[in-house]
Amino acid sequence: MSHSQKSDLFLLDQERTTWHDETLWFVRQKRDKAVYAVPEFQELRQLASDIKDHTLSRLHFYLQQFEENARRNGVHVHWAADADEHNRIVLDIIRSQGATRVVKSKSMLTEECHLNPHLIQHGVEVIDTDLGERIIQLRDEAPSHVVLPAIHLKKEDVGETFWQHLGTEKGLTDPQQLTEAARQHLREKFLAGEVAISGVNFAVAETGSVVVCTNEGNADLGVNLARVHIACMGMEKLIPRLSDLGVFTRLLTRSATGQPVTTYTSHFTRPAEGKEMHVVIVDNGRTKQLGRPDFRASLKCIRCGACMNTCPVYRRSGGHSYDFTIPGPIGAILSPNIDMKRHASLPFASTLCGSCTDVCPVKIDIHTQLYKWRQVLGQAGELPASKKWSMKLLSRVLARPGIFGAGGKMARHGLRFLPHGLTHAPGYNPWAIARELPAPPKQSFREWHAQTVK
Ligand code: SF4
Repeated sequence: MSHSQKSDLFLLDQERTTWHDETLWFVRQKRDKAVYAVPEFQELRQLASDIKDHTLSRLHFYLQQFEENARRNGVHVHWAADADEHNRIVLDIIRSQGATRVVKSKSMLTEECHLNPHLIQHGVEVIDTDLGERIIQLRDEAPSHVVLPAIHLKKEDVGETFWQHLGTEKGLTDPQQLTEAARQHLREKFLAGEVAISGVNFAVAETGSVVVCTNEGNADLGVNLARVHIACMGMEKLIPRLSDLGVFTRLLTRSATGQPVTTYTSHFTRPAEGKEMHVVIVDNGRTKQLGRPDFRASLKCIRCGACMNTCPVYRRSGGHSYDFTIPGPIGAILSPNIDMKRHASLPFASTLCGSCTDVCPVKIDIHTQLYKWRQVLGQAGELPASKKWSMKLLSRVLARPGIFGAGGKMARHGLRFLPHGLTHAPGYNPWAIARELPAPPKQSFREWHAQTVK
């Protein structure tokens, strides 16, 4: 299904759609307050963008530097060309330990690689320990947002899920009691975990360490209790120096949730005595994106989710309508790189208003890239026939002032004299379901201009 078809399903529940829209807009407003409290925020954005540009331009050098330093620290470093290889490596490490119980903190990369189903299929119990992730794991759903994975659910939905899976009281909706139930349930899983998997927010080349940011402290608890830590990172997560980190930690959470800083910013540099630490560095299409000059900047993304919270399309269509691990504006740029045919509708799921570009803490030109993808998809023949032919027709009309003027006149008369029920019939004019046109003017601007300006 295309993005618009999936959005239709989300829009069936109008109450949920409005609530989803308003909740994310609330997060966007929190972001604005946090940003305005930092006078040098725009300088920080520029600096972060420059650091990422520099790192991407010398990625081979920084990857090697990171690997050398991590190995010197006693960390096992693995390289995965794609999702399959990543999953194989992680499973091999778990098997080499004779382990069957894994606790996992939030990682969009492992979602991208579909690690959980792979491990479960091979007899490994995987427990997501981030609260939002655990909720959707129990419901067998994908995250709908990179920072707020269960944002599409209401507390009533969570109460129902916990009643079914954790045995809580039926009808329980009190967030504090639900959180306490999750805490008790997860505590047992943490204690039983043999291997801890985490994502990576930043990897510091000069120290060979990885940095994980969480609000719940679940990555720290998992890693400290388990005997093996596997950190899974996309190869674009690198920053050159430890002194660069502060630039990003000041931007990340302010942009994501409006907090001044993430509650836990944990540095993992070497394994504790008697334990093991592994880092799996994953390509999975990133090199290809790096080789596309128009889209390379998308690799600067630090997954703050600000572009989703501000996007009028995402807020009213929900993350699942994107059918890609990373939804929203940035997902619409990343996804055609992975599978152009499957995700051809996503770059069109935008008004090109540019709000995503305005809030992006690393200054990715998101709406420009969305526009460029449309051209690439058109040239690659990936547009549906209806869009292709209507665009051809429109380009002919727009190129001929006479036809354009006559068309405008017909539309103005039609809108004035035809019955409203006909011009706005939802069956053939879905645009008008929730919109109203202004009253059509008596004359066009061109007619007015010809009469008025002599
Ligand atoms: S593209 Fe920018 S705003 Fe969107 S998630 Fe990435 S860093 Fe955040």
